[in-house]
Amino acid sequence: MRTADLFARHVGPTSPWPPSLEVMRAQGCRLFGADGRTYLDFIAGIAVVNVGHCHPAVVEAVVLQARLYAHTMVYGEHLQRPQAHLAARLAALAPPPLDAIYFLTTGAEAVDAALKLAVKITGRSGLVAFEGAYHGDTVGALACFGAANWRAPFASLLPPVEFLPFGDFAALERITSATAGVIVEPVQGEGGIRVPPEGWLAALRAQCTRTGAQLIFDEIQTGIGRVGDWFAARRFGVTPDVLLVAKAVGGGMPLAGVMAPRDVLRRFAAEPPFAHITTFGGHPVSCAAGLAALGVIEREGLLDNAERMGARLLDGLRVIAAAAPAGRVRDVRGVGLMIGVEHDSPATARAIVERCRGGGLILETNLLSESTIRFSPPLIVTEVEVDEALAVYRAAVMATV
Ligand code: PLP
Repeated sequence: MRTADLFARHVGPTSPWPPSLEVMRAQGCRLFGADGRTYLDFIAGIAVVNVGHCHPAVVEAVVLQARLYAHTMVYGEHLQRPQAHLAARLAALAPPPLDAIYFLTTGAEAVDAALKLAVKITGRSGLVAFEGAYHGDTVGALACFGAANWRAPFASLLPPVEFLPFGDFAALERITSATAGVIVEPVQGEGGIRVPPEGWLAALRAQCTRTGAQLIFDEIQTGIGRVGDWFAARRFGVTPDVLLVAKAVGGGMPLAGVMAPRDVLRRFAAEPPFAHITTFGGHPVSCAAGLAALGVIEREGLLDNAERMGARLLDGLRVIAAAAPAGRVRDVRGVGLMIGVEHDSPATARAIVERCRGGGLILETNLLSESTIRFSPPLIVTEVEVDEALAVYRAAVMATV
């Protein structure tokens, strides 16, 4: 039976639209479809495969570790070399004093753990998030989802969260000494690649410091080189109390973590002991892959490449925007290789995404901003590939009425 038929019968879907691309193989920035076509991947699994698909160093690390051991005990109960080494590398890359990581498996889990930590540290209950935020879909993360219609069906399950407008300086006054934690994406991803105004993250930091609220940076999309630095915290020069990683941190394998000072993370091991536990958190194969991926980013100069290719892409997109029929493109924005182009409507954006797909280029809109097309290729992307993507996108924009 065809994969599509098996999927239709037996796989729980996430949307009413069945997936139409069956991937047979992926390499670098290319996906090879069962339809015999090659696609240029400008999504990277939504900011996951930052070192490109099947990077030989990552593949080798996965194979080697799987041969040694894949799972021996729940997280934290056996010493595991890849875990300890990856933790040390991340501690060296994150801004001080974030020198330790509690490993988990998915981003939403890391969000939940961070909310628990904020409540535990402060002894308070108030939580603040931002309109347009996406933090994942567990109950805790969903409570921080900055779109009321997504929360509504599950409202009875969700802890109360106050939502503030993203990027609004005056609204920060609503963070008070009753606030346990404030969770923010330094650049909103699903909200439409929204970069906050200059100085806003610093003002948010200052208000959290003044009130004693824990500032949690959700760097699940922005982290591990995506914004042209290891973390948005470093790029913007603002250090949170807690920093979350997932997506690219496992080099394409499932891995997530909560970064904080070591003494803070100890709170998960006390009152009661095992105050937070996970079976697969920090899976050794994922940690080995993540460690290999960090090495690739360093050796291949991918932070610098993300910055240079991001600038080339932004420039090219702005030229296309200027040439496009009036009003078709509303805005081009982004940092590093986290770029969004906002169109005049979801219908325009969808038509362009489909046309690009026909031209061999994979793009996607954002969950909460269907008018905005995201560009988040692997950080290994070359000038030739950026130019190829721009040519396909330009043709699609011009052909869409
Ligand atoms: N936070 C951000 C900023 C995300 O973009 C995502 C996923 O897209 C998540 C959290 C949730 O991560 P996961 O899907 O691994 O639970």
